[in-house]
Formats: sequence, structure tokens, C-alpha cells
Amino acid sequence: MADVATGVARAVSPLVRRVRAPNPGIMTGPGTNTYLVGIDEVAVIDPGPDDAGHLDAVAACGGDRICWILVTHTHSDHSPGAAALRERTGAEVLGFDARDDFTPDRSIGHGDCVEATEFRLRAVHTPGHASNHLCYLLENERMLFSGDHIMQGSTVVIAPPDGDMAAYLASLRALRDLPIGSIAPGHGLLIEDPSAKIDEYLTHRSERERAILDAVEAGVDTVDGVVARVYADVREELHPVARHSVCAHLLKLRDEGRVQGADLDGRWLPAPG
Ligand SMILES: [Zn+2]
Repeated sequence: MADVATGVARAVSPLVRRVRAPNPGIMTGPGTNTYLVGIDEVAVIDPGPDDAGHLDAVAACGGDRICWILVTHTHSDHSPGAAALRERTGAEVLGFDARDDFTPDRSIGHGDCVEATEFRLRAVHTPGHASNHLCYLLENERMLFSGDHIMQGSTVVIAPPDGDMAAYLASLRALRDLPIGSIAPGHGLLIEDPSAKIDEYLTHRSERERAILDAVEAGVDTVDGVVARVYADVREELHPVARHSVCAHLLKLRDEGRVQGADLDGRWLPAPG
């Protein structure tokens, strides 16, 4: 099981290495992937949790060549290690905004680039899982670092209010226009067939949305009722997680005038007419 080893750098491509953090779980799969891009000058993508052993492994791998620390978004399994890694390396911390105890040295947004001697990383704003989510495209290798926008081995949770289903689907569709040869996710292994994965995600979401709409139209009028019916195929321990996505779909359907409901704890009804 070498692939699930933590604290060890594994080559993903000629320019990219991966160190997995020791934080496996329901939301993190085998753990958070921290990527090191470049050899002479190194950009770290998602330092992960503030775990001394993990950050030591990352620092040992990149040494004093680590120039940048990029975060995809400010959730607890991706960004908290940034400050301690900056202390170890003196690297510049980059991210979309200051939030969740994360403060970048420089804010970056859609289209901004990190230029190194050997590579260029371009930020792609992908709101949906988190409003401040950025993916990074390694243009030389056409590899997309997708954070939690796309994962390997599970689907992504969209939790309102910061999570937004309509934004998420738009962000997924927008990726289709980019020259992406592979996806390096925040959790799981390299995805070699990006367009198939993106289409799989879009199909999955539209099937769930259809089932949620069907449930409401059949008279299921609470979020928990919809979860029980639509996620009958999913282990019950995952239902609290699925609940977030049901809420996100209901809010999207309401914005589109297809269902009505005042608040997520109240009753949900089909649109009139
Ligand atoms: Zn994550």
C-alpha cells in the first residue's frame, strides 16, 4: 500500500511530487494531498493541516527552494499548515482571500500566474465547494490541481451558505474549456481522463437534482425526508454529509423557480402551477 503512505514524497510527474498528510477520514479520503511543483524553484500547493510531521516532510522535500505556498481554499484540511510552513521556509503565501484563520501574503484571483524558471501555474477561480476556491493549472504539463473542486474516489460536498451548487456546476463546466491533460486532486490519486471525470460529476449532479425535484413533487416536504429518499443508496453514516448537498440543490432549484421553501428547516413544496 505504498500509495497511501504519508510523510513520503512520491513523484507524480517530472515536475510534480506529492506528500500525503496523515488526516484520513470521511471528508478527506486517504488524507490531504500536498503537492510540490518544480525542482529549482518550488511551489507548494495546499500545505494541508498544521501537522508538524507532515510539514517537516514537505519542507525536507522542497528545502529552501520552496518559494511559494498556494492554497486552493481555506478549509481545515487544506490551509492551516500555511503559516507554519512559511516559518520553516520563508516562502510567500498566496490564496484568494483572508478567511478561516488563513491570511495570504498576497491575494490572487482568476488568471493570476506564478512564474518560475521552469513552470507557470495559473489560478482558475472555481467557486462552489467554497466561494474562495482556486484550482491551479500547471501549463507546462497541462495538469490541474483541483483541490476539493474535483476529488478522486468520492464526490464533493457542497455545503451552503458558502457552498453554492449553481456556482459549482458553472465552475465544473468552465473547466471543459481549459487544456487539461490530467487532474491532481486534493484527495485521492491522479485522474488521467479529466473530461470523463468532469462529465461524470455533471451527470451525477443532474441525476441527484432530478431525484430531489421528483421527491418534492411527490410530496416529500422536508430536507431529511428528501435525504432519506434520494440517498437510500448511500450508507446512512454519510447522510449528514449528503444533507448539505440536498440543501444546496434545493436552494438552486428555488432560485430557478422550480421549488418553493422559506428556510432549510421548514417545508419544501413544488413550484405553483
Ligand atoms: Zn479537502
